Amino acid sequence: MLSYRHAFHAGNPADVFKHAVLIALVRAMQCKEKGIRFIDTHAGAAMYDLSKEFAQKNLEFERGIGAWWNSNEVPDPLVDYLAAVRRHNPDGALRFYPGSPQLLMDHQRTQDELVICELHSTEQQVLREHFEQARKVRIHAGDGYAALERWLPPPTGRALVLIDPPYERKSELDDLAVAMAGALKRCAHGVFAIWYPVIEGRETTLDRIPGSLGLDGERWLDLRVMFTEAQRMGRMTGCGMAVVNCPYRARAELHALADGWPFRS
Ligand code: SAM
Repeated sequence: MLSYRHAFHAGNPADVFKHAVLIALVRAMQCKEKGIRFIDTHAGAAMYDLSKEFAQKNLEFERGIGAWWNSNEVPDPLVDYLAAVRRHNPDGALRFYPGSPQLLMDHQRTQDELVICELHSTEQQVLREHFEQARKVRIHAGDGYAALERWLPPPTGRALVLIDPPYERKSELDDLAVAMAGALKRCAHGVFAIWYPVIEGRETTLDRIPGSLGLDGERWLDLRVMFTEAQRMGRMTGCGMAVVNCPYRARAELHALADGWPFRS
């Protein structure tokens, strides 16, 4: 049974970091003309209304996007990310928060395509309705790890894969390692961005994965940030994004993002 719903967490500090990294990767890859297949293995609902009950329950977004929304001094590494969220709130008040599939679609060029995977039936229906008119967007209603077998390699050889599981299953890290081993066999040069939480008293970091996949420091970039007291959510004290085959052009920006965290807001 799947109990995780991202609507409770949309726009929180972890989303800010994850989505800023994602946008930096997209922009770096789009310096080349050749089309990219974006694959979002754990998509969620695409668009979140922060005025609704789920988001209002714990107000996690106030510690994340909300903290920067009205700031006059936006730190450089967050400029593109904030602009992407502002596009969905044209009157200036923060109400709608775009999740990863929406952000990827917003950045899609005509030569790019998007594959969105989701296991939860409610979210699948929301995604189908939300993307009904979208061009070159496919909904994969099923397991995101299995989808990598179906959708890799892309015809152009260029892929950006976001892996953002809820870490509810005990086997998540093992499942992830197996899926990554298969994905790298199919698409050795693909760019993979894997989000993970840092949770007190639980092993959720990806420290064992590069060794098991034979990835050295050139191909495995692990960006980790620790939350301030005000940003913490329960036992989640930080989060990270591990990037496999990080484009050279994105490296400086991603380091600035991780090293500058939590920024002043
Ligand atoms: N990536 C989204 C974003 O950044 O806006 C948030 C995704 S949320 C953290 C994780 C989602 O994965 C949930 O909607 C959950 O239903 C879905 N999910 C859980 N297990 C899955 C699986 N094996 N394959 C695909 N989706 C899964």
